[in-house]
Amino acid sequence: MRPPRTGSLESLRERNRLRVIDALRRRGTVSRADIARQTGLSRSTVSSLVSELQASGLVIEREIAGGPQGTQGGRPPVMLALDRSAGALVGIDFGHRRLRVAVADLSYTVLAESHLELEVDNHAAAGLDTAADLVNTVLGDAGVEHGRVLAAGMGLPGPIDRGSGLVNSQAILPAWVGLDATAEMQERLGMPVHLDNDANVGALGESVFGAGADVGVMAYVRLSDGIGAGLVFGGRIFRGAGGTAGEIGHVLVDPQGPICRCGNRGCLETFAAGPALCDLLRRSHGPLTVPRLLELAAEGDTGCRRVIADAGAVVGRALADLCNYLNPGRIVVGGELSAAGELLLEPLRDAVARFAIPAAADHMEVVAGVLGDRAEVLGALALAGHESNDPLTVPPTHTSHQRRRRS
Ligand SMILES: [Zn+2]
Repeated sequence: MRPPRTGSLESLRERNRLRVIDALRRRGTVSRADIARQTGLSRSTVSSLVSELQASGLVIEREIAGGPQGTQGGRPPVMLALDRSAGALVGIDFGHRRLRVAVADLSYTVLAESHLELEVDNHAAAGLDTAADLVNTVLGDAGVEHGRVLAAGMGLPGPIDRGSGLVNSQAILPAWVGLDATAEMQERLGMPVHLDNDANVGALGESVFGAGADVGVMAYVRLSDGIGAGLVFGGRIFRGAGGTAGEIGHVLVDPQGPICRCGNRGCLETFAAGPALCDLLRRSHGPLTVPRLLELAAEGDTGCRRVIADAGAVVGRALADLCNYLNPGRIVVGGELSAAGELLLEPLRDAVARFAIPAAADHMEVVAGVLGDRAEVLGALALAGHESNDPLTVPPTHTSHQRRRRS
């Protein structure tokens, strides 16, 4: 049977319109000539499409004081940007102990952002209430009307079942089990909400805006109170059949090891997550928090440096297996412990090199994330854009990004 006919003039024009919007979204502020260069469209096609977008109020001309001169040394080119009124996105990041919220326009310029300490694991309804209040505060700070928000993205520190949208681990987020966090938040905010786990939104953040922006196959490993990985292939999160892909925190390290919060024994988390490292130092250093542990390590404390380096080695051992399975081009290390820098990364790289098949390890880099503790909230903004049905909010693909880099 023949496939249906595609490629009508209308759909071609619509695709070109989206490419123009894409170029505007990637760069924030561009000239018509820039758009033509980026999209490969003719100047006259770009001008015609931009006029349409201006007429519909989506695109505005923007004066740039002291901006670039025209190529002929004449007047500076007219710069274009998506009108802020075209819409906004909200990002919400629940950590185990912290809540962070950001509001951005459609070029992902963050307009306002805030965070607060919050005990999330055992207080689902209160956590959702607090997050909704913080979203409203941040929208007020940004001067964005509620009705202009197209969607919110939300990250939670636990596995999410893709079918039901529910948190599916009794052990990891007990108070959230059976709670439809997406529906609950949609009801509180009155806008579409898209949910994923913290490692996936962190991976998306580093992939779209950070250390993975030019990589086709990227793994992001998040070392914090828990350990998780997010896998991004061609700019898209790989979630697996049910949503648990990347649960590297619960791979077996030692069958005789400590009992893990997941119910298994000797998981990676019991050796390398922040609380496990603090436990190891209890006898010598008394009770410690992860920030204090990082401070002491930076000051040269031998015991603190030892547990971080050993954590790097054991995480690297697990990532070596991931390299053999998935052959990523880059592994980006994020989460609270990544602030330890080379103290953590060097033994981690050594272990990957030692235990992965050389063909997989040789062409792979291990780097620290560049977004720090904002990776997840920025990824939640990108999630809102990715998952929204509004074509205006779909972030540019890697191919268009790479095309621009080559030109
Ligand atoms: Zn476990």
